[in-house]
Amino acid sequence: MEHLVTNIQRMCMQDGPGIRTTVFMKGCGIHCPWCSNPENLLFEKEEYARADGKGVYGRSYSIDELYQEIIKDKAYWNPDGGVTFSGGEALLHMDFLRALFQRFKDQGVHLAVETSLFVPERLVQDALKYVDFFYVDVKILDAEKCRTLLGGDSMLYRRNVDTLSHSGKKICFRIPCAEQYTLQEDNKELVLKFVKQYREIPIEIFKLHRMGESKYQSLRKQMIEDDDCSDMAFKDFFEHLKQQGNHVSVIRL
Ligand code: SF4
Repeated sequence: MEHLVTNIQRMCMQDGPGIRTTVFMKGCGIHCPWCSNPENLLFEKEEYARADGKGVYGRSYSIDELYQEIIKDKAYWNPDGGVTFSGGEALLHMDFLRALFQRFKDQGVHLAVETSLFVPERLVQDALKYVDFFYVDVKILDAEKCRTLLGGDSMLYRRNVDTLSHSGKKICFRIPCAEQYTLQEDNKELVLKFVKQYREIPIEIFKLHRMGESKYQSLRKQMIEDDDCSDMAFKDFFEHLKQQGNHVSVIRL
């Protein structure tokens, strides 16, 4: 498996506390139909063609190169910010990132990860040694639908959420909302029941967006069309979460 980076985004305000630098790792273990980062699904370099020319998604770095590239932003992180690793699935790159995480920890840098948690349990245990804050997606919870739609093992996901919830680390759930998928009636009920068990964990909900469309085009792939979420369905879901005692907020990604 190659450990490639597709983007290092600076001055991010929505990827954890404070101002952050977000690193996008290439490769994911599942395939959400609504994914807005199609360039981050495969673990290998991919050629793209855009109006401004051709190129390749994915660049390999040594640990030192990546560290030097990220640490340039240190002055912007104080006092609350830090570095967030996203993707793709950042935790599937733990074998590469471990040494980088250690280096940041030695410097006292706050580390966050955005994860689907569809990863082997040992990687979660490993990440807990370094990562301060976890964004965890909540998506499709029925075991069969999760397998067919996302290619994920929902039991593994549930075990990993449980592990994190007992770790004492800061966690925030993120729920992408689309009426054909996450807010489809049966799944919505499962999600409400699931997050009710973890009322101490705050939740951010957001409507899916189509900002990834040009990246699909650059890879000659088609983005799904059925990603709608009406204001009414979104508000209704928000109210349900609030009524059952969850701390929920709306974000725009
Ligand atoms: S987990 Fe994230 S990166 Fe992976 S397919 Fe789903 S939306 Fe895309």
